[in-house]
Amino acid sequence: MVRVEGVRFGYGAGGFRLHVPSFVLEDRERVAIVGPSGSGKTTLLNLIAGILVPEEGKIDVAGIDVTALNETGRRRFRASQIGFVFQDFALLDYLSARQNIYYPYRITPALKLDAEVRDRAQALANACGIGDKLDRHPSALSQGEQQRVAICRALVTQPKLILSDEATGNLDPDSKVRILDLLFEQAQAAGAAVLAVTHDHELLPRFERVLDFAQFREKAPA
Ligand code: ADP
Ligand code: MG
Repeated sequence: MVRVEGVRFGYGAGGFRLHVPSFVLEDRERVAIVGPSGSGKTTLLNLIAGILVPEEGKIDVAGIDVTALNETGRRRFRASQIGFVFQDFALLDYLSARQNIYYPYRITPALKLDAEVRDRAQALANACGIGDKLDRHPSALSQGEQQRVAICRALVTQPKLILSDEATGNLDPDSKVRILDLLFEQAQAAGAAVLAVTHDHELLPRFERVLDFAQFREKAPA
């Protein structure tokens, strides 16, 4: 699903540098990324999602060479191939939960919001236990419910790759486990792989593999 080869990236001269010699995520695989704060975990997710572009190396996602795409291509790639779940949920409070789930369709002209999508959004919300709350705005939902909305939004485009960046970080311990199980359940049903940054070590046994990130940090050249 994801193949990263010889990737180097840096934030400007003298900034943080990341070097990932090789990383592979298989179809449907569930991999956790751990590592100290500032070790570049979010940077790698952003490279895989085509938000950032490497200086060197190649990143393939679902058979697409992301590093060969221009900006428009990367945006389209991201909207159609990737579901992103963030720690702070990143929901828009001026929109209802339902409109938040539809959001990828609002911002991507290539994606068409039709009856099938609406049905899929409702089915996902039902499966996530928020089917009767979709007319509420995020501020009228609990944190766990907000993260369920974010999971529905990540899955509604039927991506084959879910990137999750500390998605359970803001939740209480019980909710953490429930939300991760839900994410896995929905990813499995959709045949999607999951790459998840997490600080919750008690969640690691639920993943098939754990990748320690400390190894990828590159010292800036002197
Ligand atoms: P992690 O997710 O592992 O905490 P990040 O990938 O967010 O780490 O950041 C890695 C390093 O890159 C940090 O030192 C951070 O300060 C730096 N960094 C992140 N984003 C930027 C940016 N836009 N410009 C410059 N430096 C950045
Ligand atoms: Mg981070």
